[in-house]
Amino acid sequence: MSTETEITNWLATQQQAMLDALQAMVNTDGGSYDKAGVDAVGAIVKEFCEGHGLTVETVRGEKFGDCIRAILPHEGTARARGNHAQNIVLMGHRDTVFPKGEPTRRPFTIKDGRAYGPGVADMKGGLVMNMFVLAAFKKFGGAPGPMVGLFTGDEEIGSPEGRAVIEEEARGARVVFNSEPGRPSGGVVTGRKGGVFSIFEIEGKAAHSGGNFTAGISAIGELAHKIVAIHALTDLERGITLNVGLVSGGQSVNTVAPSAVGQIDLRYVNPADRDEIVAKLHEIVAHSYVPGTKAKLTIKGEFLPLTQDAAAAKLFDLYKGAAADAGLSVTGEFSGGCADSGFTAAQGAPTLCSVGPVGGLAHSPEEYLEIASFVPRAQALARSVFRLEQAGL
Ligand SMILES: [Zn+2]
Repeated sequence: MSTETEITNWLATQQQAMLDALQAMVNTDGGSYDKAGVDAVGAIVKEFCEGHGLTVETVRGEKFGDCIRAILPHEGTARARGNHAQNIVLMGHRDTVFPKGEPTRRPFTIKDGRAYGPGVADMKGGLVMNMFVLAAFKKFGGAPGPMVGLFTGDEEIGSPEGRAVIEEEARGARVVFNSEPGRPSGGVVTGRKGGVFSIFEIEGKAAHSGGNFTAGISAIGELAHKIVAIHALTDLERGITLNVGLVSGGQSVNTVAPSAVGQIDLRYVNPADRDEIVAKLHEIVAHSYVPGTKAKLTIKGEFLPLTQDAAAAKLFDLYKGAAADAGLSVTGEFSGGCADSGFTAAQGAPTLCSVGPVGGLAHSPEEYLEIASFVPRAQALARSVFRLEQAGL
């Protein structure tokens, strides 16, 4: 029997073990701002990986969850951090978007072939899949090069600390598979928009709006002008969208507003468009539509677009073939949502995203994972790793 068959056969027997691991991880609380919780999920990952003979390295996070690297060396070549060239990287994030206590209110459950619970698809299911694929290659051998499982802790808030670790991992990586949930259609993601998340703060001057109206300078008046100008930068044909999704301001209904704040979500497709639109945002924020107001713009977080170069296109074709042999028909989709895969693609690593088990309705209480996809998606990933050489990757 070939090693590839041994591995896929073994994975076929692991569905219950995968669900048990998933249950433990979903029931461990870990929103992005809950470092202790995200690290507790990390402890489960670490225990599993060490228990299956992988070497585990922890890159400490200061405010957010640590990054964990589970390493499977090749032919005795352990690749420590800082020497990542040619690693086959299986990536995923452990943090969820949910408030503290969510797993207590809404623990892991199974109903009609679907698993439910906070982060069940986004993306603890993908993490479990990566863990089992790494364990399989450790158990049976056959990986065409060193493999690394990278488990990060702050993706849902833009990876403020994880980004540097991810970029270091990606530089010179052979390929990156990001195990975000597969699309409800069963597709994977071959392109994603980039995103820039920023805040603008406006200063005006307070005055009684009845007794001393002309002494006031309205920051809310200014906010209104700026919102219209910012939204006007939207260019659907180029895939550029701007959304002021949060605003606040003012002091009382009978005071000319001394302050106002807006938060902007900018999305774009083409990496070259980023600087142009950000420069325009700076211009709009610097301009005073209401004389006497002042404002400043601060970028709070950012994701780069996932782009598909020739090597990434090859990787998708390889995966498609491997998935077909696991009984899956897979299409490549474009998503307006952002993910860490944009960072790895920007470093030049051939990247494929959303190879995790199929799920949907992420970030909502209805989030689900299709249990029947767990094993085939793991098999598709394992087969892809096997065939990298053959695909010229
Ligand atoms: Zn995610």
